[in-house]
Amino acid sequence: MKLSEMRELLTTRQIQLTKSLGQNFLHDGNQLRRIVDAAELQPADKVLEIGPGLGPLTQLLLEKSGEVFAIEKDARLVEVLRERFPNLNLLHADALDFLKNEPRDWSGWKLVANLPYSVASPILVELAQAPGCPQRLVATLQLEVAKRLMAAADDDDYGVLTLLVQLRYQPREWFKIPADCFFPAPDVDSACVCLVRRATPLLPEAQHAVFERIVKRAFSQRRKMMLKLLKQDWPAAKLEAAFAALQISPQERGEKLSLEQFVALTQALASAPA
Ligand code: SAM
Repeated sequence: MKLSEMRELLTTRQIQLTKSLGQNFLHDGNQLRRIVDAAELQPADKVLEIGPGLGPLTQLLLEKSGEVFAIEKDARLVEVLRERFPNLNLLHADALDFLKNEPRDWSGWKLVANLPYSVASPILVELAQAPGCPQRLVATLQLEVAKRLMAAADDDDYGVLTLLVQLRYQPREWFKIPADCFFPAPDVDSACVCLVRRATPLLPEAQHAVFERIVKRAFSQRRKMMLKLLKQDWPAAKLEAAFAALQISPQERGEKLSLEQFVALTQALASAPA
């Protein structure tokens, strides 16, 4: 979908874009193709698209996959999409509310979306934590959030978002998308990330809540020693024994610990009373 077509559609329909809904539409054909390539779509694939907007990405997804389920919040855009793509499985809803209130098994799906930036992180966490999480996440979002998703221990961007998503997903690739590829150009830098679901889960489902609790507590005060912070939730003796067994210094801060160390700590503490 060319920029001129987008402008014309918006003018004919008298649609004024809503900034709070993150309505920056991607019109650059090369970037759209790069996003679709990152999804490695097969003809039988099922794709979840959140925030289809005027449908530039939707068009390619419909061409390359077996099924597209799209969720769009703006009723004016839903009307446009229904006319453009009569066969699209389209839901008029707030995607975050939908994901929270109507849990589904997404394990046979791929997320491919240019997400509304203001809700991109909670949407990704919601999907990543679903028991049947999608096999792949290909998402365009704010560069700052992209860096957090792809970070490793000791990076400035490493934190709660990194760990909650990477527990289930292996970061694969990411690339920047220049602002002038969108209409209107956003005020922030953008990037597309690709994460692939781990073939073997790092932790059993039953221990995920403990992992989340440890991670959130460890980063609740970034500069403080993790052992001290965790004492709010676990007995000191149990913590000290676990740190010693895992050869983690009692002075260590959460930002220095790798995902694998957080996983090992979860296994050691999962049986301890919190
Ligand atoms: N995919 C289109 C593209 O690439 O041009 C549009 C992307 S635009 C960044 C984000 C889209 O998400 C907008 O169409 C906006 O109306 C929609 N949106 C915003 N908040 C939403 C929400 N909570 N649930 C579903 N859609 C939402």
